Amino acid sequence: MTKEHNQHLSEARFRKLFDDTDAMSIQGYSADGTVVYWNAASEKIYGYSTAEALGKSLYDLIIPADMRNEVKQAVAWMFEYQQGIPPARLNLKHKDGSTVPVYSSHTVVALPGEQPIMFCMDADMRSLEMAEAEVQRLSYYDPLTDLPNRRLMLERIASMTRSINGDGAVAALLIVDIDNFHSINESLGYSNGDKVLVHCAQALKRFAHSADDLARLGKDEFVLLLHGNSASFDAAAAEAELLATQIIAALEIPLQLDHTLHQLNACVGIALFHCPSPLPSDELIRQADIALKMAKNSKTTAISFFDQGMESVVKGRVQLAQALHHAIELEQFSLAMQPQVDSTQRLIGFEALLRWQHPTLGQVSPNDFIPIAEATGSIIGIGDWVLERSCALLAQWSTRSGCQDLKISVNVSAVQFRLGDFVERVSSVIERSGANPHNLRFELTESLLADDIDFVVAQLERLRALGVSVSLDDFGTGYASLAYLTRLPLDELKIDRAFVDDLEPHSKGALLTETIISLGRSMNLAVIAEGVETEQQFKRLQELGCEYFQGYLFGKPSVDVEGWLGDK
Ligand code: C2E
Ligand code: MG
Ligand code: MG
Repeated sequence: MTKEHNQHLSEARFRKLFDDTDAMSIQGYSADGTVVYWNAASEKIYGYSTAEALGKSLYDLIIPADMRNEVKQAVAWMFEYQQGIPPARLNLKHKDGSTVPVYSSHTVVALPGEQPIMFCMDADMRSLEMAEAEVQRLSYYDPLTDLPNRRLMLERIASMTRSINGDGAVAALLIVDIDNFHSINESLGYSNGDKVLVHCAQALKRFAHSADDLARLGKDEFVLLLHGNSASFDAAAAEAELLATQIIAALEIPLQLDHTLHQLNACVGIALFHCPSPLPSDELIRQADIALKMAKNSKTTAISFFDQGMESVVKGRVQLAQALHHAIELEQFSLAMQPQVDSTQRLIGFEALLRWQHPTLGQVSPNDFIPIAEATGSIIGIGDWVLERSCALLAQWSTRSGCQDLKISVNVSAVQFRLGDFVERVSSVIERSGANPHNLRFELTESLLADDIDFVVAQLERLRALGVSVSLDDFGTGYASLAYLTRLPLDELKIDRAFVDDLEPHSKGALLTETIISLGRSMNLAVIAEGVETEQQFKRLQELGCEYFQGYLFGKPSVDVEGWLGDK
């Protein structure tokens, strides 16, 4: 191949490249500024077709009047020295008069025997600027709610905590979390979940002083920054608490989803801090988050403030959670049995109560570790262990005279009950152990009834079909409404200890106990009272019509059952 042929090929190639490129406007000018080349991208960027542009003057086309002299000088310099000038950002002119921001490079090409040509290559900055703005938006804003995201909020807090103008004022960070958002998403679908989030964002905007003071932190968590007006922690705390109360009230206003009204409940965690503050932004968010977890775990309040004590509680919880994971394999659990009796004090069975012997903390109360096991999921393994132990005992008793009718009541957490395969798990443990399912009873709490009632009913029916019976524990303290209760296939109601503690004539406890007993009768359910400690309580409960009893009066929970079975 000859050199000439090569040259010819590359000329054609380059011309095609110039003509077709979409990304860059390329124009050629003679020394007096007449257009001699105009590619397709130039048509797009400046609005002039090639036919319109060719032969016209650069200065009439795209150079704004106020730049003409400057450009003329630069062009003259380039032709004189036959060189380009450094690329620059310029604002040129579109055919319709609008401004086109471009990044422009220029060079003069002089081939032997030909007139030199100045080539301008302009990249349109409008699309780049838009892309830049979009990247900026995406990296700092949440696309669903259009609120600032965690990253922008962290920067905002950082600039606030660094600000010396704050002058020692106390500011607050509020994290707002929607209760049960997960189940809205699951039961009503993600588009309704999105609707809830957009609705919350709108509702919260009204409480933010400026658009940057509210952000979406993640899933269903929002954070609101409250600028302090005073240097007093107490005043800032009062202001933040009032704001949190108003937010919770605003979110409680029912929202329409799929033709039904839904009420949202929210919890708020608050961290207070001085401006300027030595703490990094993410530490402040972490503190508000710890406070939020406290509010979520609390039965009495939906608003909680961070304090150092809280941190040690949380650390303690984390340590307990880790220790719980290994408690089964390290054989730290045991199962205590507490007798249940009838009105003649004859033993009818036991409640199985879990005991945990922690290597350094000693006995930890189930009231402390069960909620942690529930939150971390380890309750599932633990619950299986309790069930296996209980069934093994029932299997032993099934061949022992006088023990065949004894029942064991096993506490089941709502987390276990909600498992899709809970009934299968139970059935396989019963089968493997050889226990008589009619001697097994499950104690469920009313918290379960916050769930989908149809699911609960179906699950209970499947359990009872195995032969197992079901008791509603701590009855009267929770959520159960009568309408719900009548739909549930139950066998027993268990009156909460709190009512048994308060059986003075005409007291609230006596009234509730009486109501529960007559309710049980009308629904054909057995009624058992827990926490019976005195002869007097035992007598009162009998007068009120209670049939079964459990409490220290008849025996404390003990891992040694033989004491009660001895004479059997
Ligand atoms: P619960 O099911 O209501 O159990 C009754 C609690 O009252 C037991 O506390 C028992 O020791 C205590 N108690 C019994 N009689 C008396 C009495 O006469 N006076 C007083 N003051 N208390 C009495 P415990 O063993 O500390 O268990 C606390 C809770 O932990 C249980 O309440 C139950 O909800 C939960 N729990 C215990 N074992 C398990 C388990 O294996 N699985 C699950 N999911 N929860 C369990
Ligand atoms: Mg119980
Ligand atoms: Mg109970």
